[in-house]
Amino acid sequence: MQSPSPPADGAGRPSGAAAPHRALLDAGWSTAWRPAPAREGAAGAERIRSLAASGYAALPVPKELGGAGASLVEVASAQRALGMADPSAAIALNMHAFTVGLMADYWRRHRDTSWMLLEGIAQSGALVASAFAEPGGSPNFMSSRSEAVQTAKGYRVTGVKFPCSLATAATLVCLTARVSGTGETILALCPRSSPGLTVEGEWPSLGMADSDTARLVMRDVELDDRLVFHRGPADVIDDNVISGMAWFAVLLTATYHGVLSGLLDAACRQVTEAGTFGPRTALLGRAVRELLTLGGACRQLGADVESGAIGGQMALAAAVGLRASLSDTRDRVLAAVTPVIGSRLYGRGQRAAGLLVDSLAVHHHPPSLLTCDEAVGAFCTGREISFDPAG
Ligand SMILES: Cc1cc2nc3c(=O)[nH]c(=O)nc-3n(C[C@H](O)[C@H](O)[C@H](O)COP(=O)(O)OP(=O)(O)OC[C@H]3O[C@@H](n4cnc5c(N)ncnc54)[C@H](O)[C@@H]3O)c2cc1C
Repeated sequence: MQSPSPPADGAGRPSGAAAPHRALLDAGWSTAWRPAPAREGAAGAERIRSLAASGYAALPVPKELGGAGASLVEVASAQRALGMADPSAAIALNMHAFTVGLMADYWRRHRDTSWMLLEGIAQSGALVASAFAEPGGSPNFMSSRSEAVQTAKGYRVTGVKFPCSLATAATLVCLTARVSGTGETILALCPRSSPGLTVEGEWPSLGMADSDTARLVMRDVELDDRLVFHRGPADVIDDNVISGMAWFAVLLTATYHGVLSGLLDAACRQVTEAGTFGPRTALLGRAVRELLTLGGACRQLGADVESGAIGGQMALAAAVGLRASLSDTRDRVLAAVTPVIGSRLYGRGQRAAGLLVDSLAVHHHPPSLLTCDEAVGAFCTGREISFDPAG
């Protein structure tokens, strides 16, 4: 007896087979971790916590410290998968992945006591937020207005961090503060439950609204010196800044690659279901090739940074270049798919419209777009890279 054919989608493909555009865009991205579907009604911090507990939190922690030992490209692939499924959770968890990835890289380079923190994160599934931005803005993401006063045991920190994702879901907050009376800035991990550290007010954004992003207020928060893992002048670019920027740019790009791949799903489905192609085919082709190029550049930079094929100021210039190209690509993809999707892209409650607004957030991550081309150009002309738009 002949077995029944599997049900077909609008383009005549058996359902379950990846649509051709998805097979093309997914190629090369490989991840053992995939996000489970959200439980009915679970959103924001609750959804983020359940993703963390499903193995995500330990992904970048080295295997010998109890983690999954995922490489930068593997974590990026997980971020892309999450960006496709759940943009808000992805942008929030991106802050954890980048901070823990940087800590793991630091541990590999220094083999110091940071192993204890990494092991703790792997064992507990704890999330780490990253608090650099401050209200009223900061011309340079490496400088800070929050103030750390030296004490016998470490520092006492006062200041406001805003916007900060994972504000309520995090167990630890990685923060910057300038040390009063010195020209130094510290980078430290502070328990979220520390007395004096409170969450006061949400971030009233248009998109990425379920990213648990809010205002963190610190009033005389005691910080143990053992949790300070970097100190130095705010404007000095060292190995930690370079490693942090490389991790951040690669993971951020992968995250938005996922968000934009989700938008391409909507656009391709709309065209194939209607069966009316015309000039829409070429526009879809344009959007897909933009994402293919961005995805390839993202994975290659991740692999080159990990293998050591690129390092130092050159890696910094490449990472900043990738971050700026990500913003350009987002705008070109949106320009291509706008006439393909039509006014649904502007419709309240439409998934594609939600992705349009979520993807707009890409322009508001550090380093500021005002400084990226200048930074790459400065490297190319043998001058010092700076992230100060006023400089
Ligand atoms: C979805 C999302 C999640 C985020 N989560 C986090 C997080 O978890 N942690 C975190 O730290 N940050 C987070 N951010 C914030 C982000 O890192 C930015 O730092 C923040 O949005 C900067 O705000 P702004 O663009 O309004 O910059 P502002 O500092 O207000 O500046 C506005 C513009 O003016 C420029 N400018 C400022 N000063 C000068 C000057 N002196 N001369 C010339 N130009 C100047 C800036 O470069 C910028 O282009 C998040 C952002 C988004 C979109």
